[in-house]
Amino acid sequence: MTTFDRLAGRISLVLLAAAILWAAAVPAAATEPEPAVWRAPEAAGAPFVADRARTDVVIRRADLMRRSDSLAEAVAVLDPATPEFTRQALEAERMALQALIASLDVSHLAEATEDYGIDVGIFPVDELRKMFYNDWREPRSGGRRHAGNDTLAHTGVPLRAIEDSTVERLTTSALGGRTIYLIGKSGARYYYAHLDEVFTFEPGDTVYAGEQIGTVGDTGNARGAPHLHLQWSPTGDSNWENPYPLLVALFGRTEVYSSKAFGPPNARA
Ligand SMILES: [Zn+2]
Repeated sequence: MTTFDRLAGRISLVLLAAAILWAAAVPAAATEPEPAVWRAPEAAGAPFVADRARTDVVIRRADLMRRSDSLAEAVAVLDPATPEFTRQALEAERMALQALIASLDVSHLAEATEDYGIDVGIFPVDELRKMFYNDWREPRSGGRRHAGNDTLAHTGVPLRAIEDSTVERLTTSALGGRTIYLIGKSGARYYYAHLDEVFTFEPGDTVYAGEQIGTVGDTGNARGAPHLHLQWSPTGDSNWENPYPLLVALFGRTEVYSSKAFGPPNARA
């Protein structure tokens, strides 16, 4: 074997090694996830779920804040004879929860909803059975015009407070069925209608963004077509405005579907 052959052999070994390294590296790079761009699920009947990068942290925050509140309430009603170390232990646990809450990164949430005065917001329905569309002002029975936005989901799907809110009132009516009104920290007023189950709240109660307030149902005039009928008044009164852009922002998707192809079949509520 000549020196040239040996050199060529070494070079081809180096090239082979480089090729192996390249082959190992390139597929890894090629399978890097694409930047998150929302697309409608393609499978028939696939659930439509809001961007979990938005929802999960909000639900976690609500859970921690509720637990912290419960501990504070427990401390407040402690029997005076309770040993001091019990009080201190409860306080320490509450401080730990507060630290966890402070450590949650919710900074990415505000940008999408800053136009609505909402820093921490969540889409109100856990899972849709059809993509919602802009049905504001669509004709409804009795010559009415739709004063909100419908989101179709199965009965029993959790409904959540869109932002940190105070419960204004719970009602039952022929049109709305079981309903709940919230006043958000932003000053906006929300009306949720057709609930199957309304969780036990009283006017004045605090609910946190992402906290469950009830479940989707078909009460009122939504019989057979379970959905959330949501109304939104940014001024906190009965000057209802189109909640569709807010819902889009909360859903966290980048494409906006205005097509009725995804819309609900019912035109009753
Ligand atoms: Zn409706």
